[in-house]
Amino acid sequence: MKFSKRKFLQIICFSTLAIIFPIKTILAATKKLINPNLSKQQKNIMFKEGTERPFTSDLLNEKRKGFYHCANCGNKLFASTAKFDSGTGWPSFSESLPGAFKTKIDYSFGMERVEYHCAKCGAHHGHVFNDGPKESGKRFCNNGLCLIFKPE
Ligand SMILES: [Zn+2]
Repeated sequence: MKFSKRKFLQIICFSTLAIIFPIKTILAATKKLINPNLSKQQKNIMFKEGTERPFTSDLLNEKRKGFYHCANCGNKLFASTAKFDSGTGWPSFSESLPGAFKTKIDYSFGMERVEYHCAKCGAHHGHVFNDGPKESGKRFCNNGLCLIFKPE
């Protein structure tokens, strides 16, 4: 009886893996490297779900009016009016431009977080949380290296 229960669990485990694996493969396939000049660090974040060290981004103190674009494909992602200082060490925004991102649930590090990807090229940008201080209640925690700021 114990053996068959274990066997059953093994089957469940393997079939879950079999379902998850192709989804991951599909997601990876939809990512397109467009900018050939991306640095190794940028590629690591955008295509391998890496994270830059906090308080390292030049964009943390960027307060000019303008728009933030995807460093890989140039897609317009955030308006400067949505930027705020979250104190986390990563550029933070209360909302993205409509249709800028696609989201997926990230279960890594034993947490359930909402990860977002550029809708145009599929590159990973960061995670979005529901503890934002502005009206939207959202906090987009974005790796600065994935963004290019274009002042107005
Ligand atoms: Zn992009």
